[in-house]
Amino acid sequence: MNSVRGQLNGSHRISKLLTLSLLLAILSILGCVDPDPGYRSSSSTTVKASTDTKALTTTGAKKSPINTIEALVVRVVDGDTIQITLNGKKEKVRLIGVDTPETKHPSKPVEAYGKQAEEYTRSKLSGRTVFLELDVQERDKYGRVLAYVWLTQPSKISDSEIRAKMFNAHLLLDGYAQLATYPPNVKYVDHFTKYQVEARNADRGLWGVPTTQKSVAPPSDTGSGEITVYLTRTGEKYHVGTCGYLSKGKIPVSLSDAKAQGYEPCSVCGPPQ
Ligand SMILES: [Zn+2]
Repeated sequence: MNSVRGQLNGSHRISKLLTLSLLLAILSILGCVDPDPGYRSSSSTTVKASTDTKALTTTGAKKSPINTIEALVVRVVDGDTIQITLNGKKEKVRLIGVDTPETKHPSKPVEAYGKQAEEYTRSKLSGRTVFLELDVQERDKYGRVLAYVWLTQPSKISDSEIRAKMFNAHLLLDGYAQLATYPPNVKYVDHFTKYQVEARNADRGLWGVPTTQKSVAPPSDTGSGEITVYLTRTGEKYHVGTCGYLSKGKIPVSLSDAKAQGYEPCSVCGPPQ
């Protein structure tokens, strides 16, 4: 699997090279420098180039307290999953810390407010350039990049900057998503918890849907009367979909299968028995 962090470094290196090439071209026009003829074609000069340009790009670079990856959103899959292009390659990105109601699951019904969440994300992110921030884990088990999606780069990390500029926070504040904590990716969990409380207290979005229609708390019915619960590869317990123990793997099974195979209910998330 490709490293996203690696791609970030790679793209910086390329842009540094381009910057230096441009500068050299200008200088040579002015007659100040006789450019090394092997410079542009030979890969042996790459090291020299990136060392030389370090000072140039740092002074010109926009200051941000965090490392972000600039990416173009090419498709919105659902409320909490988008597709981006990164260095010409398509990647799926799962937003960290949030769960929007289900709209795409093959065996689950569309959950209340799922369509609204998807539309909201589409209206805000489609075709837009965003800045991805990674947490501890770069990808989930499906190979999706796990990220915080900044609409513009924050000038500092503060509550007001997160509220203003981070899309994951907007989903929670506007009631389009529930908090979903998957350790170890918990950098903003304190902020996110607060935003969810605010949205719930104000009956925003999915929190305003009458309880009888609300299916935001997994497990949900598969339609065949079966309840879905989740296993990990190595654990002996079964869980609801949002349980923190599922950070390393989330294998859906029916409740009856889980029990038949000898799995016990998790004591932390309290799945149905
Ligand atoms: Zn659990």
